[in-house]
Amino acid sequence: MKILEEKEDKVLINCAFCEGKGLDIFGIMSYLSKCYACMGKKTIWLKKPVKTCPSCKGTGIAAEGRNYCMVCNGKGIVSIPENAITCSKCNGSGIDDSGNYCVKCKGVGVYSVQHGN
Ligand SMILES: [Zn+2]
Ligand SMILES: [Zn+2]
Ligand SMILES: [Zn+2]
Repeated sequence: MKILEEKEDKVLINCAFCEGKGLDIFGIMSYLSKCYACMGKKTIWLKKPVKTCPSCKGTGIAAEGRNYCMVCNGKGIVSIPENAITCSKCNGSGIDDSGNYCVKCKGVGVYSVQHGN
């Protein structure tokens, strides 16, 4: 996780999907198009606390290769609730026993105790 700037309640990160370039690195639309994960802004503010996205392991790229990760929307990092606990179903991996996206935590690996269970 690369934090560029930190404030009391938020962090500034480089967009993982385009590696902070702001362009569509896979040329899905065109190589000159704006990165659709960060809308070409290159950096993204995220509300704290944050954790590395377990589904893409912080790359922002989905397992299939060319699309952005649906869990973190290409950021590589996700905002989590302050009272989040590790998901009991996937043990924080974001992926269930059969290798699928964990529906319990929505692939984030943690969930809020208020809403979980
Ligand atoms: Zn981007
Ligand atoms: Zn992700
Ligand atoms: Zn889970």
